[in-house]
Amino acid sequence: MQSAQAGVDHASSSIVDRVLVDSQSARADTACDGEYDKFFDDGIYKCAGCGTPLYKSTTKFNSGCGWPAFFEGLPGAITRTPDPDGRRTEITCSACGGHLGHVFRGEGFSTPIDERHCVNSVSVKFVPDPAL
Ligand SMILES: [Zn+2]
Repeated sequence: MQSAQAGVDHASSSIVDRVLVDSQSARADTACDGEYDKFFDDGIYKCAGCGTPLYKSTTKFNSGCGWPAFFEGLPGAITRTPDPDGRRTEITCSACGGHLGHVFRGEGFSTPIDERHCVNSVSVKFVPDPAL
């Protein structure tokens, strides 16, 4: 007995399809999700996706924008990618590629570095560390 299904190529849903889906999963940002907006305990903000440390609480500041804001990420933890429109720079976790938010420069905040990492609260997980 011969299967009528022979010859169906399961491999035809190619890697290209997967890459397209992944690149669209960086969802549109919505304001006012600020679980960590007014939150200034000492600790480390880790990637919600993979647990890699991304920011120290000592680099967090109150930007007034309604989002958690940092002026500096941990070295090598953050990957920057210019948006297609060239106006904003997306920041992602260097380890897993998870979307974090956007980084803005030259806004005149009184921080040691004139940058604002505007991060989704849902993209990071705070871990207390009183030693900081
Ligand atoms: Zn990650």
